[in-house]
Formats: sequence, C-alpha cells, structure tokens
Amino acid sequence: MTMRSHYCGQVDESLIGEEISVCGWVHRRRDHGGVIFIDLRDREGLLQVVFDPDRAEIFAEAERIRGEYVLAVKGVVRPRPEGTINPNMKTGQVEVLAHELTVLNRSETPPFHHDENANEELRLTYRYLDLRREEMLGNLRLRHKVTMAMREYLDSNEFIDVETPMLTRATPEGARDYVVPSRTHPGKFFALPQSPQIFKQLLMMSGLDRYYQIVRCFRDEDLRADRQPEFTQLDVEMSFVDEDEVMEKMEALLRHIFKQVLDVDLPAPFPRMTYAEAMQRFGSDKPDLRIDLELVEVADLMASVEFKVFAGPASDPDGRVAALCLPGGNGLSRKEIDDYTAYVGRYGAKGLAYIKVNDVDAGRDGLQSPILKFLPDDAVSGILERTGAKSGDLIFFGADKARVVNDALGALRVKLGEDRGLVTEGWSPLWVVDFPMFEKDLQTKRWNALHHPFTAPSVNDADALKNDPGNALSRAYDVVLNGSEIGGGSIRIHDQSVQSAVFDLLEISKAEADEKFGFLLRALEYGCPPHGGIAFGLDRIVMLMAGADSIRDVIAFPKTQSASCPLTNAPGEISAEQLKETGIRLRTPRTS
Ligand code: ASP
Repeated sequence: MTMRSHYCGQVDESLIGEEISVCGWVHRRRDHGGVIFIDLRDREGLLQVVFDPDRAEIFAEAERIRGEYVLAVKGVVRPRPEGTINPNMKTGQVEVLAHELTVLNRSETPPFHHDENANEELRLTYRYLDLRREEMLGNLRLRHKVTMAMREYLDSNEFIDVETPMLTRATPEGARDYVVPSRTHPGKFFALPQSPQIFKQLLMMSGLDRYYQIVRCFRDEDLRADRQPEFTQLDVEMSFVDEDEVMEKMEALLRHIFKQVLDVDLPAPFPRMTYAEAMQRFGSDKPDLRIDLELVEVADLMASVEFKVFAGPASDPDGRVAALCLPGGNGLSRKEIDDYTAYVGRYGAKGLAYIKVNDVDAGRDGLQSPILKFLPDDAVSGILERTGAKSGDLIFFGADKARVVNDALGALRVKLGEDRGLVTEGWSPLWVVDFPMFEKDLQTKRWNALHHPFTAPSVNDADALKNDPGNALSRAYDVVLNGSEIGGGSIRIHDQSVQSAVFDLLEISKAEADEKFGFLLRALEYGCPPHGGIAFGLDRIVMLMAGADSIRDVIAFPKTQSASCPLTNAPGEISAEQLKETGIRLRTPRTS
C-alpha cells in the first residue's frame, strides 16, 4: 500500500469525489467554529484539509497538531463552499475532507516562520527548514532544470561528460588552493581543483574531442561579496576549433537553456565587443548594456587647462579623464552627490567633479559647477558637445589613473542606472573579446596572465610575444549577461614553445614550470590538437534566471561570506590522532 496517492499541490477539481491520500507538513492550522482547517504542504504546494467534529477521534487528534508536524491524511476531495474559494492558491478551488489521520512525526516550533525575513545566519543554521520555503525549493528546481537543459544540448552536440580528480595538484586560476594533507605521504598535500583546466586540456590531447562536466571548483579567495569557496562550473572543452566556433556553440547552448527553462529567446547572434571598447565606453569588461549611459573621453580637452586635477591625468599616459552624462540629473541634491562621491571613493576615486546643465543654450551662464571657473570656453563647449548633454542633465567627471577612472565611473554608471530606474527590462548577453594577454601588477611590476597561463596569444609566435607582451592580445572571450560575467574561456596554447614563452614572461622558472606543470608541457609534445573551451558559472546563471539576490539562494548548502557553514560548523578541528596520521603539528596549540 502506498502511503500517498497524490502530491498536495497537485490536487484539483478533476479529483472531486475521489478518495485520495496525501502526506506533508502542517503549514498552518486554523480553527473555525468547531471545524479545523489545515494547510498541508509538500514540494508541489498547499492543500486545504478539513477536520469535521463529527469524526470525534480524528478531530481530537487534529486538535493536537502543531505547525510543521508531518501528517498522512486520507479523505475525499470536494469543492470548496461558495465564498471560500482561494484564487491565489493552486489548489484553491478544492479541499479534502479527512477521514483518516496519521501523525507521522512531530516538530519543535521552528526558529523562524516561512513568511518571516529571518537573518541569513539563522537560515543557514537551519537550512533544512529554510529550504522548505516555496521560493527556495523553486530555486533548486530551477537549477535542476538548467542543468538538465545543459546536458540535453551538450549530449545532442556530441559532448562527453567526464569526471576529473578532486584530489590533485595546483590548477592556477588566480586564487589560493584548498589543500588536503596526505596520510600515506606524510608532509605532502593534495590541492582541490580551482578548475579542471589542465585535465580538460589533457582530455583533448587524448582525442576526446568534445568534453563537458558540471563540476565543483574550489577557490580560496579573499572574502568578496557573493563568492563561494566551492562553486559549480559548467566546464567545456573542444578540439579542432577556433574562437568563433566555441562562441557559436556556446551561445546556442545558452539560447537553448533560456528557451527551455524560461521560454525566453536570447538574441542570435550575441553582440560582440572588444575589451578595449568595453573599457572605453563603459569602464568595465562586463558592461550592462541595458543601461543607456556611456563614458566619454575628454582628456584631450583638459590637457592644457589650469585645473591640475584634470590636467595631470590628461597628460599621463596611464591616466584617463572621462565624463558621464546623467539625463535629468541636475535635480540631484547636494546630499545625493555627496553619497555618489563616497560611492566612487570605494573604487579609489579621490573626488567626483560635476557640472549641472541648467540651460544648454545659455553657454557658461546656463551651467552650474564648482569647477566651471577652471575650465576655458572651448573645453566647456567640447564637453557639452561630446556628452550630448541637454538642459536638465548633470555631467560627472573622473580623472585619475585609467584603472581608477574605469572602476569608479564604471561602477557609478551601474549605480545610477539602478537608482534612477534606467535599467531596461530583459536579457542582454554580450561577448567580450580581444583581452590583453597580460596585465602588470603595479606593485611587483610583474606580468600576470589576465585569463590563465594556458590561454593562447593572438600571435602564435613565441618571439613576437616576448618582444611586446604589454600589447599582446589573447584569444580569450567572456560572456556577460546583464552586467554579470557568466562565463569565460579561451583558445589554448598547443605549441610547447609558446607555452614556455608564456611561463617565462610570467617569471615562472623552468624548474617551477617543470615541477608544477611538467606533465602538461610533456603532453604538448605528443601531438596536441588545437583546442579551446569555456567555463560557465552555474550558480550565477541560476541566480540571474531565478531573479535571486545572492548565489547563496540557489545553492542548497552554501557557506557564509566568511567561508564557513553554520549548519555543520565546518571548518572544524580534527582529532589529535588525525593530526598525527597526517604528520601535522599545529603551531598554535588549541584552546579547547
Ligand atoms: N578554466 C577557466 C576558469 O575556470 C575557464 C576556461 O578557460 O575554460 O575560469
């Protein structure tokens, strides 16, 4: 005998008159004039169960029921009486008159109610209760649909799902490794993979041709908002392809997912933009194109003005002076402008100059600004012309090292878009291409790989690369959706001499390269096909599709922002015996 004939949330008018059995949790109990109503909940939704005093035995039992008790109910489906129909409830047309009740389990009073906006620490401590909420269950189901749609597309496009090791060596993606001590090799450690990058490349060398994996990656990064130490990627690699083919296939994948899961048609093809253009126009390599605001170059107008704040960066080769016009912005209050100044301060900007445009036809007299007196007429008219400012607008300025101006104005652009309702509805995907190969660490003066050290340069020539690393472009591509980077990849180096040249430029010594990636360098000597791939951030994609505020809301058991788990209390201590077995002695003795 099955305990349950139907899910609560699936009982409808077609079952009227039938006897059914349902199981679930008590969502709410109401006593009305001698009749007890229980909203019984399972993963499909709520169902109203009625206990009539005529059935004295089960009525008495029903009176003892509390919230979150687990019940099995048998009863007959009937239409709700006129006036009690609930159009907001999926099963709002019907109810079940109970004639059998089994209390399968009791429950303590939960620490927070379903509808309550409990704090996150508490929600994570009692995650199993938090996941009972419709919204959270909905997120997990959406995630499942997304991964199903991914597999569907990839399978029908000849991709093969292969698992790669979790206990491995360092896989450089720019973060710290999570390490695992080895008991059988005391003093030695495994690293958890930051990505399967090297393994997927090796699979291409094996002739697998098209690989994918929905895979957990581990990155011990400094605490940044909305990052998880372990997160999930859709990892993909293809052989005998160039960047166009990878991008075409992968945007078709995204279109498939959006169509299947949300019935949304993403554009075909996705627009593409170079990194240089994205930085120039939006101050960001992940521009949200739904916001119709752009940075405008004004350095040449400022090079000879007396105002040092502008003239300095305008004549600095690493500097930038840019303007950002906010339509209708001249109504911003002093306080609002101060708040925006503080906001750009977080990105390193030392101030936020502005001009209010009261009447664009009145020349200088129509403008209002603390910096106006420093600007000659031609600079003023140039600014108005280039920004296309109209009466009623406000123009913000950024002047500093280009990196600071881009970070500050790029972030301000998004903030203004959100604050002023300038973000249009819908989905706006974008490929960003032609990234620089390297960027200089301003402190150490060393080159860093912008993507990772296996990314192919646009020139497939070791000498050309070494001669001018600063201007070398890479064959990397990022996919951006509504201002979030949701994926990134590249065509890889398949030529050993180019790979060695990149290691040299990154000042990874021969010995270090051999020790860390010798196996990859060796593999490159045994017939490596041209190949490339990409990895998508699954958590972020699902978060955007769910309209959730944080990736933690689409991960069943996430960590807090300080990389711990309040549910299990991980990370935890290990026993003295385990320490001994793994040959580890703690430098700081334990306090407990
Ligand atoms: N391995 C890269 C990452 O995880 C993505 C890729 O190049 O495929 O960011």
